Parts: sequence; C-alpha cells; structure tokens
Amino acid sequence: MLIVMKFGGTSVGSAERIAQAAELAVKSAKEGHKVVVVTSAMSGVTNKLIAAAENAVAGEYHKTVSDELYEPHRQAVHQLMPNEAARRREALDSLRQKFERFETLCKGLTMVRELTPRTLDAISGMGEMLCAPILAGAIAERGVTSRPIEATELIVTDDQFGQAEPLTAETRQQTREKLLPLLEAGEIPVVTGFIAATKEGVQTTLGRGGSDYTASILGAALDADEVWIWTDVNGVMTANPNEVPEARTMREISYSEASELAYYGAKVLHYKTILPAFKQKIPVLILNSFQPTDTGTRVSVTGHPSSRGVKAVTSIRNVSLIAISGKGMQGIPGIAAKTFDTVAAERANILMISQASSENNLCFVVNSSEAARVMKALRVSLELDLLQNHIEDIVVDDSIAVVAAVGDRMQGAPGIAGKVFGALGTANVNVIAISQGSSERNISFIVGETQAAEAVRAIHRAFELDKPSQ
Ligand code: ADP
Ligand code: ASP
Ligand code: MG
Repeated sequence: MLIVMKFGGTSVGSAERIAQAAELAVKSAKEGHKVVVVTSAMSGVTNKLIAAAENAVAGEYHKTVSDELYEPHRQAVHQLMPNEAARRREALDSLRQKFERFETLCKGLTMVRELTPRTLDAISGMGEMLCAPILAGAIAERGVTSRPIEATELIVTDDQFGQAEPLTAETRQQTREKLLPLLEAGEIPVVTGFIAATKEGVQTTLGRGGSDYTASILGAALDADEVWIWTDVNGVMTANPNEVPEARTMREISYSEASELAYYGAKVLHYKTILPAFKQKIPVLILNSFQPTDTGTRVSVTGHPSSRGVKAVTSIRNVSLIAISGKGMQGIPGIAAKTFDTVAAERANILMISQASSENNLCFVVNSSEAARVMKALRVSLELDLLQNHIEDIVVDDSIAVVAAVGDRMQGAPGIAGKVFGALGTANVNVIAISQGSSERNISFIVGETQAAEAVRAIHRAFELDKPSQ
C-alpha cells in the first residue's frame, strides 16, 4: 500500500514523541508499505512564531525569543541522532539557517511595523520546516533512508495568504515528479505540513491546523491507498472530549459525517481535509500516536450509520452573529443577494444562515476574526437600504457559539429536531437561531457562548452517545 501518514503537533512535541513517530513510520515501511510522512510543527511552536511576529511588529523583538524556540529543536537533534555526527551536524546547520531567517524577518518587522498576511505565512510556517529535518533524521537513524522535503516544492496554491487553496493539476504533477522516485527507491520522504507556495514560489499556508489538509492533498496527488492522521486521541469522538468526558470514539464514519463534524468545530480534523480524499474514495484513518494499537476511526463511503440518527455533537467558538433587521425588508428583493455578495467579496466564510419567516431579520455567522471587516463592507454596500429605512440596523454579536448535531441517518428520520430542542429546553439552554442544511445530515443552531458546553452535553445525553450504537 501507499500510505500518507501525518503526525500532529503533540505527536512530534518532544524528542520522545518524534522517536515514536519515526518508529511508526519505519514499522509501516518494514511491513512493505510505501510511506510518505507529513509533519506538523512541534506543539506550541506555531503559536509562538505568530506571537513573535505580532510582538515584533509592535516594536518588540529580543533574541531570547529565537533562543527559546531553538532550544527544544536543538535538544531533539542531540537526543535523536546520537550515532552519526555528520547527520547531526547537517540537522543543526539546517536549524541555524532557519533561525537566521526568522531573526532577519522579525528584525525587519520591528522596522517596517507592518505585518502583511504574506510575511505572516513566511514566519508561521517555519515550525514545520524546523521539525521535518529532525523527524527525517530520526527515521534515518532507524535504518531507512529519509529526507526532509519542503511542501513549497510540491503543493502549488493561489495567493490567498493564510488560507491558500491548492491548484490540483500543478500540485499533482509536482508531487508525483518529486516523491514517486523517492518512494520507488524505498525512501521515506518527510514533508512539511501546513505550508505550500504560489506558482511564483512565494510561501503560503493552508490555514491553522492545515497539516491534515496537506496529508489529504498529497494522498490524492499520489493516488494513495490510505491517509493516516496520527493525533493524540483515539479517533473522531462523539463530542470534544474536553467538553464531554464520556465522549466515545466512533469506529467508522462516512466522508459526509467527517466533513460536517470538521466544518462545525471538531478540531481533530482540519475542515478541508476530507474533500480531496472523498473525491478519490481514499480511506482516511484517525489514529492515536500515544496508543498506536487502538484501531481509531475509519472514514469511508458507508461509514456505519447510527440508528439513533445523531452520531456526534460539535461546537464552534470565536464566531460572530451578524443580524440585519428592519420592517421594511419585507418584500424588498435583493437584500439577501447584496448581503451575501458582500460577504463573498470579503472572502469570509459563512458558517450558518437563518432567516425568520416574517422576513424582518436575516442573520448569519462568520468567524470573529472576519466580523469587523464584513460589518464595514456591509455598511457600505447596504448604505442606500439603510438610508431608505428598508433596513433599520446591522448588528454584530460576538458572544455566541454554534452547536451542531451530525449524522447521516438524520436524513428523513422524523422527530430528531424535536428531540434535540426538547433536550435543550430541559437543560434551560436558550436557542437564538436555528438552521438545518438541505442535506439533513446536520442541525445547527446558535446559543450564547456560555451555554454552548451545556447544549453539547444535553444533546449527547439525550441521544445516549456515550453508549455504543448497533
Ligand atoms: P494534532 O496536533 O494532532 O493535529 P489537534 O489538537 O489539532 O491535534 O486535534 C486533536 C484534538 O481535537 C483532541 O486532542 C481533542 O481535544 C480535540 N477534539 C475536538 N473535538 C473532537 C472530536 N469530536 N473528536 C476527537 N477530538 C476532538
Ligand atoms: N502547525 C500548524 C498549526 O499549528 C499546522 C498544524 O498543526 O496542522 O496550525
Ligand atoms: Mg490539528
């Protein structure tokens, strides 16, 4: 089999964890599989890089920042490559080069005092570049030839910095050209997750948590047999285990369930991961690098639908509700069209839409980081409607969360919405707005942020998701 396996931040979070990741990759290679490894940055590193860039642009940069980031990587090199001095030296040299570039960029920021999305991508993507040579070295120490590969040489994207989208044909060609010969020669390439490059070679990133997406992009480009996501839980669970301690791992879910769950906040998978795998029907496995013998979750076509209808519950924070209201909206065509055109032009992602049947109110949810921009643009594009009093107000509420109940079997099953909202009523959770996608695989609704955890737990209890389904 050809397997693309991705290791998340905690799975490469220390020298010990990198050693374990190397063992897992080598084990599959020794079983006769062709293995491509995708690595995240060591846990916490991406956040620190972004914080350093933000501080630098505010005028604060001190060398200790770079020293602090360097230290865990240096230690990992010494611990993981005890045998060959040349290999160690090469890894340390590569680290030093990256840190020099990091320092130059940060010092530049203290002078220009402007952090563009493009520069932020150049800095935030460095964690993966620091980690890949270390993991490749650890694999080589175990007797299988391995080398780090920067995904800027493989994945070609548009120039939407911070959220770049791959160009499929170019990516497929470059990935096959570079990786297939290595795989034929029995090597394990270790590719940096999260980063990519435009056609012109400018570094981009695929969005926070995007290493999962890297794995499925490469899996699709290589026509891989399976994509494995090694993380720190036993697969995709019926709810966020931090929010619902009794949450259970689902052994099999469908592509559509995985995709809805990821889209509505299940952090275990980046929300775009499923699509490239789904298009080619490549199974995706979510596995625990801390418990590698556990079977984890398998994402496949059928996905073992649950007879209960609802299979899992998720929540998303850091989202904002934008509401447009006014008695004069009734019967005036085009306000919704103008609104959504404006949001699209701002390239903001809409997570949920709801309109009351009286037509007096149209509301939708976007990520909080995009809300101010969208509000500003709406005030301009709807200015005339505001002046003519078709619209009385455009308001934003940042203190909300979206909760979603997901399951393939919800389709056509009566009584599920009743049970969801009955459970919320019993738990005294106030529902602000509701939306059910036409796929009927998902009921999502808005609640106050402080009630989100209770809402998730109430639905989990009502559908007895802590018990195995038949
Ligand atoms: P990685 O660093 O491996 O990419 P992440 O932190 O991005 O890992 O994702 C794994 C985490 O996702 C888990 O530790 C868990 O806290 C969180 N999580 C949220 N919702 C779910 C869910 N439904 N199933 C499993 N994990 C979830
Ligand atoms: N290191 C990146 C992040 O923290 C990508 C990833 O871990 O998937 O967002
Ligand atoms: Mg992740």
